[in-house]
Amino acid sequence: MSMFQPVRGMRDLLNQDADALSYVIGKARETSALYGFKEVVTPVVEPFELLSAKSGEEIRQRMFIFDDLGGRKVALRPEFTASIARLATTVLKNEPKPFRLFSVGSVYRYDEPQKGRYREFWQANFELMGSGKPEADAEIILLSNSLLQNVGLTGYTLKLGHVGVVRGLLNQEGVDDVTQNAILQKMDKKDYDAAFALLTSKKCQNTLRGLVGLKSETAVETIEKMREYTRGYDKASTAVENLAAILKLVTESGCEIQTVDPAFARGLEYYTGMIFELYVPQFDIALGGGGRYDRLIETFGGEETPAVGMAAGIDRIALATQVQKTVLKKTQQKRVIVIPIKEEQKMQALKIAQTLRDAGIPAEFEVMGRKMAKALEDADKRKVDYAIIVGERELKEGKVVVKDLANRTQEEIEIEALASKIRK
Ligand code: AMP
Repeated sequence: MSMFQPVRGMRDLLNQDADALSYVIGKARETSALYGFKEVVTPVVEPFELLSAKSGEEIRQRMFIFDDLGGRKVALRPEFTASIARLATTVLKNEPKPFRLFSVGSVYRYDEPQKGRYREFWQANFELMGSGKPEADAEIILLSNSLLQNVGLTGYTLKLGHVGVVRGLLNQEGVDDVTQNAILQKMDKKDYDAAFALLTSKKCQNTLRGLVGLKSETAVETIEKMREYTRGYDKASTAVENLAAILKLVTESGCEIQTVDPAFARGLEYYTGMIFELYVPQFDIALGGGGRYDRLIETFGGEETPAVGMAAGIDRIALATQVQKTVLKKTQQKRVIVIPIKEEQKMQALKIAQTLRDAGIPAEFEVMGRKMAKALEDADKRKVDYAIIVGERELKEGKVVVKDLANRTQEEIEIEALASKIRK
């Protein structure tokens, strides 16, 4: 490994890639505020015990773990939920419920790198804690939908499922939790034969096979079939009704659910109810996902706290904006460079740059001390929109020359009017 290359699975982001990432982060923050979420900031490095307590087995095996110099066993966070659960059981313990908490930052998993899969990536994380009602599930799904809509993506789809359906069936058939987790993990990988092979009872195998094979045109039809299929299985039936209630709330609020998938399982073992994922047609990897986890807070020693949350994969959403050529607002902003003609105008020129910045206009200052022709050539190459040329003669009249680098036109403008002129 060369010391001049990033560690495998980690990236340097520049130009459009960096812009796309920060654009999506901005949209995630805006969306969280629209739904009344409060931002919290938690450490990247956490005690190993906290992170391993209840991330699924799969994530546990892919954590970056090390001893710090004080001999503490620590790890880089592979997700946010454990840190948020800690907040819920400590500092926020006596706060009135529900909490709506938003976080954004980098997370780390020893995944096999490929397009859209990295070892350091960014997540925006939304947790709604304290309500076990379908309204809360609906709120998280609607928020996820709004996020992709606000980012400007088109044609995205939502896939919905419920871990309570398969777990309900397996519970009633007497399958233990460890085997259930292993089965869901295999189902998550669409490795159905391996999943069914973990069941000793033929009857149970057939029941599960049947449920997994259910296919329908619409979400509502799938729910109807799931209802029939789970008849006689009390817990599974309750789960189907819960799913139906959530689906109704979401669709009647104008958000379309394209697929209800009875075989849908997600990697994290802590889910107890509804689960969902977001996709765009251009990729077969999920842009985000989430679900209900009613027992996680208890595992951290807190009181019983139903909760539902979602994590958006910022890098993948950013990739999708690039593939779909979503126009990023940030890149539409005009760029300006301020260039003094001579050394004597340096101070004045710098003041003008400051005035522009104070007015909210991004302005660069010529810091290389280059001659005018060279400085303009460079600005042109870098696609700067305007060069503001500060010369002795114009300064005497309170003016500067503004050169439109794209149109190759120029005019003298009063310094006072400069900001408003550039803004339009
Ligand atoms: P999870 O925490 O596993 O539910 O993941 C939530 C979202 O994070 C996924 O839907 C992806 O968009 C994103 N994600 C997960 N793993 C990776 C990875 N290795 N690289 C990039 N994005 C990822």
